[in-house]
Amino acid sequence: MIRIEQLEKSYRLQGQTKLILQIPYWSVAEGERIALLGPSGSGKSTLLHLIGGVLPVDRGELQVCGSKVSGMNEAERDAFRAANIGYIFQDFHLIPALTARQNVEMVLGGPADRRSRMQQLKEWFSRVGLAEQMDHLPSQLSRGQQQRVAIVRALINRPPLILADEPTGSLDWETGGLVMKLLLDLCEQEGLTLLAVTHDLYHARLFPKTVPISDMNRLLQSADGLAVAAGRGER
Ligand code: ADP
Ligand code: MG
Repeated sequence: MIRIEQLEKSYRLQGQTKLILQIPYWSVAEGERIALLGPSGSGKSTLLHLIGGVLPVDRGELQVCGSKVSGMNEAERDAFRAANIGYIFQDFHLIPALTARQNVEMVLGGPADRRSRMQQLKEWFSRVGLAEQMDHLPSQLSRGQQQRVAIVRALINRPPLILADEPTGSLDWETGGLVMKLLLDLCEQEGLTLLAVTHDLYHARLFPKTVPISDMNRLLQSADGLAVAAGRGER
């Protein structure tokens, strides 16, 4: 599903280049559901953006869903992402002027037939406990409910890979746990691979597998790793 070899990513800021990720090897099998852990600034979002084709790879090889994402140009990455990736963000990214249903309908592929589309939407909103709230605006929903809508939007086309960047980060702890459990259950039922960043150890323990980013990012593997990285990165 995901295969990384000798991957490097730097950011350029004020004329300086700073190396953020250096991953000799990492792989994720199809159907795995993984919680990615690590302190703020350790490169978790950057890694998700590379895997999702949002950011280009600087060096090394990245294969996702059978495609070689490293080496793709921006248009190719956009097409790759549309076909393969469901993205879930900490702050939902719903369009405020559209109802919950319209937010999801916007991305819904598949049959053009209006009745079967409506049926599909109803089923998914029921699965996340929002059958009665389909025609509410985001502002008329709680934060937990808004994230459930975003989950439906990410999953409804059944993309093989779901990337979630701190999906419970802006929810209270209890609501966050319920939302994470729901996301895990839906991905299991649909057979989708899930890679989710979380800060919360309790939420991480809901996952069959937990990976600290320091296990793969070489820049984090020694006490002076970041200092070394900073020095090496300034070219
Ligand atoms: P995390 O998600 O683990 O908190 P990020 O991947 O967001 O970490 O960021 C990793 C490092 O890269 C941080 O030091 C951050 O400041 C830096 N960084 C992130 N985005 C950019 C950017 N667009 N330009 C320059 N530096 C960035
Ligand atoms: Mg982040």
